[in-house]
Parts: sequence; C-alpha cells; structure tokens
Amino acid sequence: MVMAYARLLQRARNQNSVIEKQCGEIQSLREMALQDALTGIHNRRYMEENLRRTIKTLCRSGGELGILMVDVDYFKKYNDLHGHSKGDESLKRVAVALKHMLTRADDFVARYGGEEFIIILPNTGEKGTRIMAEKTLEQIRACCIPYEQNGEFSVVTVSVGATSGKVTPDGSVEEAIRRADEALYLAKNSGRNRSVFLKIEKKPS
Ligand code: GH3
Ligand code: MG
Ligand code: MG
Repeated sequence: MVMAYARLLQRARNQNSVIEKQCGEIQSLREMALQDALTGIHNRRYMEENLRRTIKTLCRSGGELGILMVDVDYFKKYNDLHGHSKGDESLKRVAVALKHMLTRADDFVARYGGEEFIIILPNTGEKGTRIMAEKTLEQIRACCIPYEQNGEFSVVTVSVGATSGKVTPDGSVEEAIRRADEALYLAKNSGRNRSVFLKIEKKPS
C-alpha cells in the first residue's frame, strides 16, 4: 500500500515537471513571436496588441496618447555605400539607443518595419511628445554612427513624425498611426533630421 502510494506520488511529480517544462517552452515561443529577430526589441505584432490595451486604459482614465514614428534617413544609400551587414549593425544600434532613451515603465519602442520604428508614450500630451521627438533626434545623432554622405552631420540621422491627443476605442489606433505617418512625411519633405508634430484629429461627434 505504502509502495503503491510512493509510486503514484513519483509519477505525479514527473508529470508536473514535464508540464512546467512545456509551460516554459510555450512562454519562450510567445516571447519570440513578439520580438524582432534582427534588433531584439519588440516587433509590430507586440505593438499592435499592446496599443489596443493601452488605448482601452486611456479611454477609461481620459489620458492622452503620444506616438513617434521614427525613420532612418537615406538608409538605402547607407546600405549601398557600407553594405547590408553594416546596415543591419546600424539598425541594431538605433534600436538599442531608442530603447534606452525611454525611462517610463509604460513607454515602449517597436520595430515597425524595415528602417522604421514606433515609440508609444501613454499618458503623454503635446508638450511631452514634442520633447521626446527632439530627444529622439539627439539620441540617434549622439550614437555617432559614421555616414559620410549624410549632409552636414556625417552620421546616421532619423526623421520623426509625432502626434498626440485623446483617443477613442473605435478605430483610433489606425487613425493615430496614420497621423504620425503624415507628420513623418512632412519631416522628410522639409529636409529630414527633424521632427514634425501634428495633433491627433478629433472625430466629429
Ligand atoms: P528616406 O530618408 O526617405 O527614408 O530614405 P530611405 O533610403 O531611408 O528610404 P527608402 O524607403 O527608399 O529605403 C529604405 C531602405 O532601408 C531600403 C533598405 O535598403 C533599407 N532596409 C530596410 N530594412 C533593412 C534591414 O533589415 N537591414 C538593412 N541593412 N537595410 C534595411
Ligand atoms: Mg528611411
Ligand atoms: Mg522608411
């Protein structure tokens, strides 16, 4: 009787450890699915999942959302001049610099695609978003990644499209990102290595 009980107990322990191992593997797979393979920062999927949750929270609290769309300037030419693997290295350095720039627990950066990154700033209005946009430009210039043919700076630079405002649960993720994209387009067209801010437009009620 005692022996049978001991065998059952051992079997249960073995099963528990198998389950724990599988849970750990599932967790690692989940983390990998939300991480950008090249830079190690969050990927676009993570950003989309997290932003939807953030917007729900902000709608309840009435807080504002700030978004920065960050795009490396003339990066195609950088690859042509320095080679694709140097290009990859530089993208990693940009990603790390952006990540280290953020100090608030809820702020995060994700690789949006190619040489484009997105920074999400919950509870941040126009003033704070403008400050963070300028900080982004400075942070990347301060990395001093050599790029001889990038105008007066001779280092890798970025352009930033910034937006902020109150958000609503319906469709406002897309709307806010579209607005940041619009601001980025203006920053590129007005000379690059600069930021442009546009307020998130209020929907007519
Ligand atoms: P702009 O200032 O207008 O943004 O010019 P750009 O050259 O940066 O923009 P464009 O969209 O013409 O080219 C983006 C380039 O970014 C194309 C590609 O060579 C490079 N790129 C995108 N993803 C990666 C990547 O993962 N690694 C490397 N090395 N380069 C990449
Ligand atoms: Mg670019
Ligand atoms: Mg781009």
